[in-house]
Amino acid sequence: MHWNQINFNNFIFTIYNCERSEFNKYIMANKPDNKRKKYRAPRGTSDYLPKRAAQLHYLDSQAAEIFERYGYRRIITPTFEDTDLFSRSIGESSDIVRKEMYTFNDKAGRSLTLRPEATAPVVRAYIEHKLHSEIKPVKLYYIGSMFRYERPQAGRYREFWQLGVEALGSPKPLIDAEVIVLLVDYLKSLALNDLVLHIGSMGDDKCRLPYTKKLRQELEPKAEAMCPDCQQRLKLNPLRVFDCKNKVCRAIIAEAPKITDNLCDECANHLVQVEKGIIGAGIKYQLDPTLVRGFDYYTRTTFEVRSPLLGAQSALGGGGRYDNLIAEYGGPATPAIGFALGMERVLLALEAEQVKLDIEISPDLFVAVVDNTDRPEAFRILTDLRRYGLAAEMDYMARSLRSQMKLADKLGSEFVIILGPDELKSGRVAIKNMATGAERKVSLDQIADSIKNLKSEPKGE
Ligand SMILES: [Zn+2]
Ligand SMILES: [Zn+2]
Repeated sequence: MHWNQINFNNFIFTIYNCERSEFNKYIMANKPDNKRKKYRAPRGTSDYLPKRAAQLHYLDSQAAEIFERYGYRRIITPTFEDTDLFSRSIGESSDIVRKEMYTFNDKAGRSLTLRPEATAPVVRAYIEHKLHSEIKPVKLYYIGSMFRYERPQAGRYREFWQLGVEALGSPKPLIDAEVIVLLVDYLKSLALNDLVLHIGSMGDDKCRLPYTKKLRQELEPKAEAMCPDCQQRLKLNPLRVFDCKNKVCRAIIAEAPKITDNLCDECANHLVQVEKGIIGAGIKYQLDPTLVRGFDYYTRTTFEVRSPLLGAQSALGGGGRYDNLIAEYGGPATPAIGFALGMERVLLALEAEQVKLDIEISPDLFVAVVDNTDRPEAFRILTDLRRYGLAAEMDYMARSLRSQMKLADKLGSEFVIILGPDELKSGRVAIKNMATGAERKVSLDQIADSIKNLKSEPKGE
C-alpha cells in the first residue's frame, strides 16, 4: 500500500513536471506569436450572437408551448454518454458510428461520446428511471445541441441544435399520427408553408428480413455498376441504398422492389391507419416507399418533412417508430415513436421563405438625464422600473442629452423620460412617446403604471 502510494505520487510528480515543462516550452516557443494569434470557433461550430441566439430561443420557446399543449414534458439528459449506448442503437454500420462520433476517453479511461442524437439517451433514461411504470404513453421532448464530425456546409454543422419528441409505450397507429401532426403543426406555427411531408414504412421483424433478402438478390447482379458506398451497403444493410444520391445508383434503385409493396398484413394495416389519422388532421403528405431512415432501430412508420427550397439538405426533421430499441437495451418491451428536428435547418427554411421572426428586443422606456450629477438618481428610478416589470435602459457612457436621445431612438425605446433639476425638484416628469412625440406629465412614482397604461392603449392613426 505504502509502496503503491509512493509510486503513485512519483507518477503524478513526473507527469506534473513534464506537463509543466511542455507547457513552458510551448509558451516560450509561441510567445512572439501570442499577440497575433486569432482564436476562432472550432471548425463546424458557430457562435450564436444575440440576434441569432434570439431566433434559436424563439424556436425553442415556441416548441415548448406547442409540445406541452400536446402533452409532452421536457427531459434533459447529459451532453455525453457511454460510447456503446450509441454504437448499439444507431448501428455499427451507420456512417454516424463509423466516422462521425466525437469519442474520447476521460481521465479514468472510460470511452465517452458527445451525443450525436438524443433518442438513445432518452431511452436510456426511460429504462434507468423505470419510467415504464408511469402513465403510458410516456411523452417527452428535448431541446439541445448534438455533435457529429461531418464536413461542414450550409445546414450541416459539427455542433448543431435539435429539438424532438419521444412517445414511449403505445403500439397504436394514432400515436404515430399525433407525433407527425405535432411536427407539422410546429413548423406551421413558425409560418413555414413550403413543406412536404413524406411517409413510409420500414416494416417489422416479420416482413423486413424477407424484403431485404429480395432487395439484395435483385441488386447484387447490378452491384458492379453501383457506387462503392452502395456496394458496401449491399453487404451491411441493403436498405441504405435508398439514401444514395448517385445518379447511376438511383436509376438502378428506382427499378428495385419497394418495401411498401412487401409489408406483412399487420404492417400494411398500421400504415393505412397512420395515413387515416394524418388525413383526419387535414395534413397533406406523400407516400414515399424509399423513405428509409438512417438508423438501424426503426420499425414500421417513418416520416420526414422537407423544405424544397433548401436544395441538398432539404430535410428539416423526421423520425419513426422504434419498437425494439428499449428491449434491446434491456428494458421491458416498449413500442415507441419520435422525431428530431434540426433547428439550424429550420432557420434556413425561414430565411428561404423570407419569414421575419418578430423577436426584436427593445426597451419600453429610456431614462435620460440633463446633468451628470443626476445619474445616481436616474439609476435608482431605472432599477425601480425594472423591478416593476418594465424593460428600461439608461446611458452609462456619459453621453450628452442629445446623444442620449439618439441612443434611445437607436435602441428602439418606445418612451423616454428626461430627468433634470426641475423634474427632480417638482417630482413630475414628462413621458414622451418616441413615435408620435406626444407627451404626458406624471409624478415620478407613477411612471411605471402610466407606461403600462400607455402601452395598452390602442395605437392611433
Ligand atoms: Zn450509390
Ligand atoms: Zn411487417
